[in-house]
Amino acid sequence: MRIVLMGPPGAGKGTQALLVSERLGIPHISTGDIFRANVKGGTPLGLEAQKYMDAGEYVPDSVTNAMVRDRLDDPDTAPGFLLDGYPRTVAQVDDLAAMLAEHDAALDHVIELTVDLEEVVDRLVKRAGAGGRSDDSEEVIRHRQELFAKETAPLTAVYEAQGLLTRVDGMGSVDDVAARILAALGR
Ligand code: AMP
Repeated sequence: MRIVLMGPPGAGKGTQALLVSERLGIPHISTGDIFRANVKGGTPLGLEAQKYMDAGEYVPDSVTNAMVRDRLDDPDTAPGFLLDGYPRTVAQVDDLAAMLAEHDAALDHVIELTVDLEEVVDRLVKRAGAGGRSDDSEEVIRHRQELFAKETAPLTAVYEAQGLLTRVDGMGSVDDVAARILAALGR
């Protein structure tokens, strides 16, 4: 099963992606996690990505797409995967479709976690105050939300037109949300 999980920053996407991918026995591919691992390891990719991440900007499509292409070439993705945080731009949607077509594959499901944005931003700002990620200043949090609304939220319309999109209520306990996602996937 090839799945994309979408939702605004702070919607609990990472937590859900981990739970659901484990349950389905497919790899969880988080572009944010791969970037962070590269930043930590001081790789050339990490050095390139860090300046964008710290500013709450998107890493350029060319860099991100090449990284995902490499990851999807790994044999563990043959039975499927759950993408978390990718695609985020229209160009990434197109590139992903092209990568999958090369493997004679296509997406099966796109899940959008819907949340109360004000509540999410509130929570993120509080977490930032308590010492969170380096990209967690209030200004950067707000910028990431704006970028999501502008660049990424429109992607759901693309996937909806393709008949791939299911919206899932992302508010509530971790277990409840996970159960809703699995139900939307027919599990
Ligand atoms: P995340 O953990 O998904 O919130 O990602 C953290 C940061 O990594 C983002 O704020 C971006 O700077 C970068 N990033 C992750 N995924 C992408 C993507 N698909 N396109 C561009 N930048 C990304």
